[in-house]
Amino acid sequence: MKKIESINPYTNEVIEIFTPLNTSEIKEKIDKAHASFLKWRNTPIIERVKYAENAAKILMQNQEKYARLCTQEIGKLFSEGMQIEVPASIGIFGFYAANVGEFLKPEVVDGAMFSKPTIHKIPTGVIFGITPWNYPLIQVLRVAVPNIMAGNVFITKHASNVQQTARAIEELFEEAGFPSGIYTNLTMSADDVAMIIDDEKVAGVSFTGSERIGTIIAKQCASLIKPHSIELGGSDPFIVLEDADLEMAIDMAFIGRIGNCGQTCYSSKRIIIHESLYGEFIEKYKEKFETLTPSDPMKISSTYAPMSSNSACDDILSQVKKAVNQGAKCITGGEKIKSESGAWIEPTILSDITKDMDIYNEELFGPVAMIFTFSTDKEALEIANGVPFGLGSSVISKDIERAQKLALKLETGMTAINSFMIAEPAVPFKGIKKSGYGCALGKEGFEEFLNKKVVLLVENQS
Ligand code: NAP
Repeated sequence: MKKIESINPYTNEVIEIFTPLNTSEIKEKIDKAHASFLKWRNTPIIERVKYAENAAKILMQNQEKYARLCTQEIGKLFSEGMQIEVPASIGIFGFYAANVGEFLKPEVVDGAMFSKPTIHKIPTGVIFGITPWNYPLIQVLRVAVPNIMAGNVFITKHASNVQQTARAIEELFEEAGFPSGIYTNLTMSADDVAMIIDDEKVAGVSFTGSERIGTIIAKQCASLIKPHSIELGGSDPFIVLEDADLEMAIDMAFIGRIGNCGQTCYSSKRIIIHESLYGEFIEKYKEKFETLTPSDPMKISSTYAPMSSNSACDDILSQVKKAVNQGAKCITGGEKIKSESGAWIEPTILSDITKDMDIYNEELFGPVAMIFTFSTDKEALEIANGVPFGLGSSVISKDIERAQKLALKLETGMTAINSFMIAEPAVPFKGIKKSGYGCALGKEGFEEFLNKKVVLLVENQS
């Protein structure tokens, strides 16, 4: 069986080699998870809360350990791990520990004519998460924690390149006191995913990743009539209206695009600027891109990280080259950084992109911004909505009412006003169109794999 390698993308060193589970070992783990579910669903909420609070404390006390794992396995800036990845993970445990009691309360339905209906939130069983590497802790925890707190159990196939982090997450649940089988890490090949989805003991499937693989998972789940959520890529528009605070807009567009080395589903990938601001915006935006210097991502002073792997870097370079061959203009960057040994591409800005270019409809999962200009709101909306994706979006304007009106016309699951897109535990995270369906986080994410069971109390007529 093919071994799984964890490679440091800064040094290109193989840091650990993992042996995948064979199919009978996987089946055993599913059986164990299912047996654990039968007990866990009846565990008092107070006990679940205690374990979640323990997990938050362990993360808090070991922030550097978890941030370092992310840096070693995907090259994420250590500072971003400390400021975003680990605090958000603590926040996920904290939010669901604080709210599980409220979220599980039955809801009374008003206005019924013939009965008194209530909706009860019933856990459904073993939920299978297939997760990407880009936020190696958050991507797993944002689905695992709400499900586990709700009374489901969770099994995970994490991305191949983050197997050390995957193991650390399982150890975190164990150390926090969650009973064995409540959270299970499956060190496995993607080839065995279909077998797990097929298993009758698996009640639901949560996939986060690319459109290509999401389509395969969705087809299989649909054929089995198995509940699933599919959270896919994005090409988020970032619209700067003519009345925007320009300095703020530039800062937001920069962080929104360059954070996590551009490898975020809801990055501000398409910057759509009012034509009156274009000259000043692009001069300062370009300056910011050009100050980024590649250096060891473990150093707190580092500003620019390598990409997660050589193949990720090659993929985006070829998208950029193709766009330039098809007529796009490269304002800055566009080349591999050859002086460094890791997976580095120059921070890149592209303009003059037209609908007939491949890149127009593609996701750019790396530090490459696409620039567009507009003269009317109608034009801005046409550009923003003219792609297959519909994950997040941003509108920058001093006129909040106007920005809010525009937000409602954007064909995306989420819009941030006067900011790049952000995610937080209390707020539902979701896309439309080719960005998928289903929801993570918030109360809605909590309910994703619950049976919202309707009980009708009917008055006896006799
Ligand atoms: P990916 O290639 O689709 O991989 C995602 C997961 O699917 C990994 O665990 C991967 O395992 C597994 N996988 C790969 N091939 C498979 C197959 N044939 N059958 C079953 N599972 C398979 O995605 P990625 O490139 O790692 O992640 C980046 C994408 O995720 C981007 O498009 C990004 O926008 C999207 N994303 C979306 C969200 C959201 O919430 N909407 C959040 C984060 C990322 P291996 O690693 O073993 O291949």
